[in-house]
Amino acid sequence: MTRMWLVDPEFLCDQHLLGEHKEMHQEVGQIEAGNLETVKGHVREAQVDTSLLEQRHGELVEEMENRGFNHKSPLDYEDELELGSIDTEANLEDLKQRCEDCRERIEER
Ligand SMILES: [Zn+2]
Ligand SMILES: [Zn+2]
Repeated sequence: MTRMWLVDPEFLCDQHLLGEHKEMHQEVGQIEAGNLETVKGHVREAQVDTSLLEQRHGELVEEMENRGFNHKSPLDYEDELELGSIDTEANLEDLKQRCEDCRERIEER
């Protein structure tokens, strides 16, 4: 499942950080392959904002590098779809519910 959490990357545990990063590549892959129905499905569920994919990828990579992960997958994407919107506050609550590691990171701050 593709999902842009779009919360401060410092709040994400390693697993969610790496997961969201991978999903940015997958989503751009879907768009480039022309699978727009899949993309629109994510948009309907408020999981993706296509205009933020490249920027978000950059933020996640920065945090990955801070944590010592190697990054060898540049993402070149220029958005022409401008689809989707994301409720960051709701995502923060959702992360706290579903992931103990993320919750600890969120509550530490
Ligand atoms: Zn990447
Ligand atoms: Zn997590």
